[in-house]
Amino acid sequence: MRKKTMSAIFCALCFTLFGFVLLSLSIGMLDLRSAGISEKSNVPAAAQFESDTSVSEDTEAPHDGSPLQLISTPLILIDAGHGGEDGGASSADGLLEKDLNLSLSRNVASLCLVFGIPYEMTRDEDTLLYDKYGEFESYDGRKKSLDLKNRLRMTEELDTVLFLSIHMNKFPSEAVKGFQVYYSTNATDSRPLAESIQSFVKSHVQPFNERVPKAADSSIYLLKNINTTAILTECGFLSNTAEAASLNTPAYRAKLASSIFVPSAEYFVRCATN
Ligand SMILES: [Zn+2]
Repeated sequence: MRKKTMSAIFCALCFTLFGFVLLSLSIGMLDLRSAGISEKSNVPAAAQFESDTSVSEDTEAPHDGSPLQLISTPLILIDAGHGGEDGGASSADGLLEKDLNLSLSRNVASLCLVFGIPYEMTRDEDTLLYDKYGEFESYDGRKKSLDLKNRLRMTEELDTVLFLSIHMNKFPSEAVKGFQVYYSTNATDSRPLAESIQSFVKSHVQPFNERVPKAADSSIYLLKNINTTAILTECGFLSNTAEAASLNTPAYRAKLASSIFVPSAEYFVRCATN
């Protein structure tokens, strides 16, 4: 990514705040809503529209007031998997993956907002993205493929330093459980970040979890086709009754969100200062 200057004060603030998140993990009390931060309060920090005031009058820049310049800000792109008519996995008692993905993604987004990490969300409502760009008259039969292509397109249009996709898992055997990270092999930073997040979850949320991050294969379209640091977190198995019940708890989701956020934010700040 391009070089960007960050002040020492900002770094000190970030690390102080990371400490706060760690503390919240240790006491398991990070519930942003109880802190007065509404899940609906996310303000996309990705792209800022700005008048082209830097253009001097002797250039040929149009003056009809229409051209606004899109200033792209390096950011974390948070991707809540599925949505709309695609519910994703489901639990025995009807929990839908798409809803948990969005809730947990909002938790991560709220932490980005609190700690001043620029972010954007692929979706912040219950919808797929197949018609995001309004390209076709009909989307029948290609909604899922276009949804994934448009999520990938967002990563390319934005200055995505890190793509963070949030999902839930399922398996035929009810006994299988545990948080699992996948990483893209297209960028060398993806694997160490995945290892850091997997380790964070083991240390702070799931001591039993012996899983190691897995390289994404061709079945994970976004991670196979993306060109930036990218990971996908399968945050738990909805097919496991106990894990599904935990995932349905705001405090548990907040702990997982913190474990995803801290290594991700540390990575983002490191990129931004190098
Ligand atoms: Zn999924």
